[in-house]
Amino acid sequence: MTNTPEQPNLEDRVLVCKDCGNKFLWTAGEQKFFYDKGLQNTPKRCKICAATYKEKLREKHPVWPIQCRKCKKKAEVSFEPKSEDTLCENCFQQEIEKRNKAIKALGETLPE
Ligand SMILES: [Zn+2]
Ligand SMILES: [Zn+2]
Repeated sequence: MTNTPEQPNLEDRVLVCKDCGNKFLWTAGEQKFFYDKGLQNTPKRCKICAATYKEKLREKHPVWPIQCRKCKKKAEVSFEPKSEDTLCENCFQQEIEKRNKAIKALGETLPE
């Protein structure tokens, strides 16, 4: 037995956008896409408002301008930097690789 959720009859539906109050069409095709993805909530916004909403969400995830403490380059990071201990993504990667190598080397020289 499988747990596939029952798919309702797919036909175009008219929904009301919660942002602008306009009616919009939720087509059978879009619904199928929805159910295929396992999504269960019906869309609450028309396409225009959904796009605006996404835009707003993106604005909520800003980037912070930093100056890398290692290479002194100006960069942007997607997390809030902790004081001066800031590395650009490049240097951060290098640091991690260096650390991994150091750990590996340490492991190899450990006495039995
Ligand atoms: Zn709308
Ligand atoms: Zn750097």
